[in-house]
Amino acid sequence: MNATRRHPRHPRDWALWRRPKSFIAFLLTMEALSLIGFTLAFARSSTPTATDWMRFAILAAGATVHIQLTRRQEERRRNRTKTVLIDLIAVWVFPAILVLPAPLVVLLVLLTRVQRWFTARRPAHNFVFSAISHSLAAALAQMTYVSLGPHDWLSLSGWGSLREFGFILLAAIVYEGVQVVYVGGILTLSSPDPTVRTVLGSKADNLLEAITTGLGAITAVLLVTMPPTVAIMAVVTVVFNRLAELDQLQDDVVTDSKTGLLNMRGWSESAERALSRVGRADGNLAMLMIDLDHFKWINDTFGHPAGDDVLISVAKVLGEVTRPADIVGRFGGEEFLVLLPDADAAAAEMAAERMRDTIAKLHIDTTDKRGEETTITERTTSIGVAVYPRHASTLQGLVQAADAAVYEAKEHGRNQVRFAPSLNQ
Ligand code: GH3
Ligand code: MG
Ligand code: MG
Repeated sequence: MNATRRHPRHPRDWALWRRPKSFIAFLLTMEALSLIGFTLAFARSSTPTATDWMRFAILAAGATVHIQLTRRQEERRRNRTKTVLIDLIAVWVFPAILVLPAPLVVLLVLLTRVQRWFTARRPAHNFVFSAISHSLAAALAQMTYVSLGPHDWLSLSGWGSLREFGFILLAAIVYEGVQVVYVGGILTLSSPDPTVRTVLGSKADNLLEAITTGLGAITAVLLVTMPPTVAIMAVVTVVFNRLAELDQLQDDVVTDSKTGLLNMRGWSESAERALSRVGRADGNLAMLMIDLDHFKWINDTFGHPAGDDVLISVAKVLGEVTRPADIVGRFGGEEFLVLLPDADAAAAEMAAERMRDTIAKLHIDTTDKRGEETTITERTTSIGVAVYPRHASTLQGLVQAADAAVYEAKEHGRNQVRFAPSLNQ
């Protein structure tokens, strides 16, 4: 659980050193590469002119307005997002890549990172990490762009502008690519079971990132052709941040905040869809209702936070032992529902037994009522199974049948899998 984090004072105490060796090696290698990258970029860059400084000032002002006006939203977003976090600040950093010399690009990145760091209140090495990954991505993208030999945007022909557009796209690809490799590498090495989604982010996240970079390109054009219009972009980005939050809120509506599983609303929507698909195809489907045995005892003995930790661990296990097409939700309290599309009675029984077995083998580290560390083990579960079309033909009917089967399991001594009584018996 997220206890309040202290900022360690001495580098020796950084949480970083407690990470796996491969993680530290990757981080230090990337940081060494960054140093080389910066040196190259700096060596090749021209001394900033008065125009460069003016453009820098405009972008820095825009970024500051953006960061300060979206502080609360970003904090909320950060608290929710468990995987890749898309930082909309590319709207300001990407134009810098296209129009400013390398040292000013890096300066702008650092300026945004310091401000974000104050709002996010993360450990120091997170700041160092994000400052370096962003600066490296920006510096390499800037080098790529400059080496393409871009022309003055104010005197472009039709074809010339098409070619420049291609250059901008290439710079964007380098900028995103470096971040994907860097952040993806870190996430792969630091999470116990990395998945494509947790490492690379969802489709929606990546679309958001692409749009942000696109807005950054527009900002660059405005900055060169008509600098005062960049003020419009400041407004656009603040509104855009709001829209990004709406997207997150939509996810929240169907998610159980405690376990991260689908809540009943989200589960029912997905389950109805699965049921009608299976119905059309004349197939099977199984419904499992999972009820933790004597859960109240855990709360009474160790306290509610310990009970919550058990719920979180069980939810995680259910996610792990099911297939991607299975629909796992929290029915309420200590009850979960799992819909297994295309599963017959035998497959459902096997899945249910696997869940019961895996939950029983869990070692759940938590704290007791006095705040002392304790481990909860050997938790048993009663699982009720109903199969479509044998037990019921509607979602509600299946849930009721599975619930009745749980009741049977409890009656017969708990810690077991029970089938609902057949309709035609
Ligand atoms: P049984 O073996 O018959 O299922 O007994 P049980 O104790 O598991 O079932 P009961 O329905 O008596 O109690 C369920 C308990 O779950 C009561 C409630 O306080 C607790 N509970 C419900 N939601 C939460 C939650 O989100 N967190 C915690 N810690 N406890 C919860
Ligand atoms: Mg119950
Ligand atoms: Mg129970």
